[in-house]
Amino acid sequence: MRAFTYAAPTDLSSALARLGAPGTHAVMGGGTDLVNSMKSYIETPADIVDLQGIQELQALDTSGDPVQIGVGVKLVDMLASQPLMQLFPILQDAANVVATPQLRNVGTVGGNLCQRPRCWYFRSVDFNCLRKGGTECYAILGQNQYHAILGGLGCFIVHPSDLAPALIGLGAQAVIGSASGTRSIPLESFFIGPEVDVHRENVLVPGEMLVRIDVPRPAAGQRGVFLKSRGRQTWDFATTAAAVSLVMSAGTCTSARVVLGGVAPVPWRSPDAEAVLQGRSITPAVAAQAAAAAVKLARPMQYNAYKVDQVQVLIQRAILQAAGQGGS
Ligand SMILES: Cc1cc2nc3c(=O)[nH]c(=O)nc-3n(C[C@H](O)[C@H](O)[C@H](O)COP(=O)(O)OP(=O)(O)OC[C@H]3O[C@@H](n4cnc5c(N)ncnc54)[C@H](O)[C@@H]3O)c2cc1C
Repeated sequence: MRAFTYAAPTDLSSALARLGAPGTHAVMGGGTDLVNSMKSYIETPADIVDLQGIQELQALDTSGDPVQIGVGVKLVDMLASQPLMQLFPILQDAANVVATPQLRNVGTVGGNLCQRPRCWYFRSVDFNCLRKGGTECYAILGQNQYHAILGGLGCFIVHPSDLAPALIGLGAQAVIGSASGTRSIPLESFFIGPEVDVHRENVLVPGEMLVRIDVPRPAAGQRGVFLKSRGRQTWDFATTAAAVSLVMSAGTCTSARVVLGGVAPVPWRSPDAEAVLQGRSITPAVAAQAAAAAVKLARPMQYNAYKVDQVQVLIQRAILQAAGQGGS
């Protein structure tokens, strides 16, 4: 691990001012990913800004519209907020299956959304892959069973966060802070794929950090479901995941969001699947049609074709459950 300086500010403006100073900084939520990334030289900050002492980042305000979730809120505290879970059961689905109880006790919302990819070539000190400044993606000809089937361009990581697809399904906004103020963008625009920049996974530039997630209050008849497949029932990332949020009115779907996890370098929103659902009564046949639309551009590699079938099953189940038709 490279030597670093460390600061633990107690207010947000001091943290942002420190990030604005010249040098390479990293912010730390719970540190569950950052410290490992530093040990394997994926991250080599000269200065760490620990956010854990900043009260305003730990605020969770469910009283207004939008609902505001500070990036310092721990996953365990998110799950313990009854008002939040009642408003957005999809967040309970997602947060409950992140990692392990121990990691949820320490990991934060900001850290979960900004964690680095888990690709084993990226994480290994033995491979200097494209994302780390090398010249090739070793997954293309290598062990690619956990890699992308959609949207990879030169690099086939998958986005690791379970919260991200669920929050995008809810139409969340990302509030980004810097020494010069804050800006708000749709969370789906926060994440960038290798076609934009192969060396980072989000739009943040030096001096910026994620400050808050704003979630619009649910519309009448809105229901969301998040489903995840994984190799083990705990301590494991999604092989595939599906977040579906529907607004149903008199048996018709008036609005739909379908966002996939574990299949692409970014949380993968599918306008094609959403178009199938819009204005329709939800039946198993319609759900299957939407699932097929979601993967029509899939390009699996040697070992990950199973993801095409697996994610379609999750999408169908999530659509039927979100439409109030059960499904297992
Ligand atoms: C064994 C294991 C299993 C896991 N399984 C899952 C899983 O199934 N699903 C899942 O979703 N996650 C999983 N995770 C990831 C886990 O949820 C993350 O480690 C955790 O959410 C990160 O939170 P943290 O607060 O500790 O982040 P940190 O380690 O503090 O930060 C992670 C990264 O985000 C950056 N960062 C942190 N906060 C901000 C911010 N506010 N603005 C900008 N950048 C920021 C840091 O600089 C760092 O690069 C797993 C992790 C482990 C180790």
